[in-house]
Amino acid sequence: MGNQDEKTVAIVGGHNVTVFDQHQYDKTGYQPSDDNPELVASVDHNKIFRASYGTKLHYQRLALESREAWVGINKEQRDKDNGAEDLFVPCGMLRVQPTASLSQLEQETLANMTRDGLRDTQFVEGNFEDRERATKRGWGSKLLEFSIPDDPDGRSFEAVLDSLAGFTRCHKGCAYFHQVAEKVGVVFKFGPQQGSFDCLIEEQVSGGKKAVGLKTKDGQVHKADVVVIAAGSFSTQLLPDLSYHLESSAGSVATFKIGETDKQLWDKYSPERFPVITWKSAPRGKDGKDTGSVYVLPRTTEGFVKIGYRGLKFTNFRPAPEGTPFTQDGKWSIPLPPSECKSLPSFSSDAIREFVAIFLPEFKDVPFYSTKLCWYTDSLDNSFLIDYVPTYADRSVFVCTGGSGHGAKFMPVLGEHAADVFENGDESITPMRPFWRWREDLPRRNGLQEGPDGPRNIGEKAA
Ligand SMILES: Cc1cc2nc3c(=O)[nH]c(=O)nc-3n(C[C@H](O)[C@H](O)[C@H](O)COP(=O)(O)OP(=O)(O)OC[C@H]3O[C@@H](n4cnc5c(N)ncnc54)[C@H](O)[C@@H]3O)c2cc1C
Repeated sequence: MGNQDEKTVAIVGGHNVTVFDQHQYDKTGYQPSDDNPELVASVDHNKIFRASYGTKLHYQRLALESREAWVGINKEQRDKDNGAEDLFVPCGMLRVQPTASLSQLEQETLANMTRDGLRDTQFVEGNFEDRERATKRGWGSKLLEFSIPDDPDGRSFEAVLDSLAGFTRCHKGCAYFHQVAEKVGVVFKFGPQQGSFDCLIEEQVSGGKKAVGLKTKDGQVHKADVVVIAAGSFSTQLLPDLSYHLESSAGSVATFKIGETDKQLWDKYSPERFPVITWKSAPRGKDGKDTGSVYVLPRTTEGFVKIGYRGLKFTNFRPAPEGTPFTQDGKWSIPLPPSECKSLPSFSSDAIREFVAIFLPEFKDVPFYSTKLCWYTDSLDNSFLIDYVPTYADRSVFVCTGGSGHGAKFMPVLGEHAADVFENGDESITPMRPFWRWREDLPRRNGLQEGPDGPRNIGEKAA
């Protein structure tokens, strides 16, 4: 990190430049395990890549910048090894609408795509010209049609095929960037002892408290001028000063497994033939928010078909440690231990089953191969939190977290924008700076206002 040449930096978490990580990725190569989910969002078979962001043009642009980078990595990998598996697969994404017409969010997305000259990459099923263009460009077979169950007029859901979208093999992305970082001299310390953050080492200075390093679980003290906390949904537990800004909540994930011998399903759900599909069901909740947002990705090379439900992201309220700056009834929402993350609340498994019946009919009565809760790091407004922590003097603590369920796609470019903020603070040139700043002036919203009495809490309710 250029201008910081004189300084030592210790980073906890984040894969691109991780120094300390409690997981043994050097041994596992970031391979996800369905038998033993590690609760780490990035270490997963695949994550959706999309640049469709409604009115959030800044994220649309960041996603397109990232797409270019992913495509470059694919090329680099193939140049080295002709048979290398792509890290980014542009298989397209079908945004199936709640009804037979386009939703408002979809109209906003299309308007922003038009504004950036990208409208021709989007194909609206109900639009004759779009369908023709899709066929001409080889996307016609992915413009799939799904009937609305019990519709008296026999209509189908409106849908938009996004040819810019697809998925990333995010665990392989982690392994790739691990190598990149090691090559430029980043030192990695993995494992539950030497890689696991225990606490910050602090000193009192005239401006207040200052971090001068960190201690790991093996008792070692590591001096550093700046400590970076990038520990995903665990970040608040490492640095309780984040407690106002972030909340951990669980997404529900289920898989089916297709055997290679089942040629019909193997081919049908391959990325060559099947797009990512997302769907927001109607009707919505009383507050107008969607309660039925579900997605599926094409099968992996191992045959896994992954389905995710994010209509309701479950919180787990537990007593917060003494001195935590922000709590709700003395509690905060943190990830459940791994052993309690292997089954899904019936609310989400029912929603996934409804989705399966419509979109993956062959699996209607097939038991799930695996299920797990996977933890989001939700922020006040769904934007990342990447900034110096003002409660520490001398810019001694920096945070890079708050992925809010959409961070994996940005893996190749996030570090560069974060490094700009790290080096230049308010003088940084990244257009993301205003969105990622420390923002305790914002009200607690985006679901973070609900607290332990909210409908999503699967942890402890208030006494
Ligand atoms: C269910 C679900 C679905 C998602 N789907 C998508 C999607 O389709 N597309 C997309 O772009 N994004 C998606 N995301 C978001 C994306 O996965 C995250 O934004 C991203 O992976 C966050 O990366 P991270 O490095 O901040 O956190 P993580 O990946 O959680 O990594 C945190 C790291 O910190 C380490 N750590 C934690 N505690 C300690 C400690 N005490 N000491 C040392 N190390 C520690 C962990 O071992 C881990 O390696 C999804 C997230 C979830 C939960």
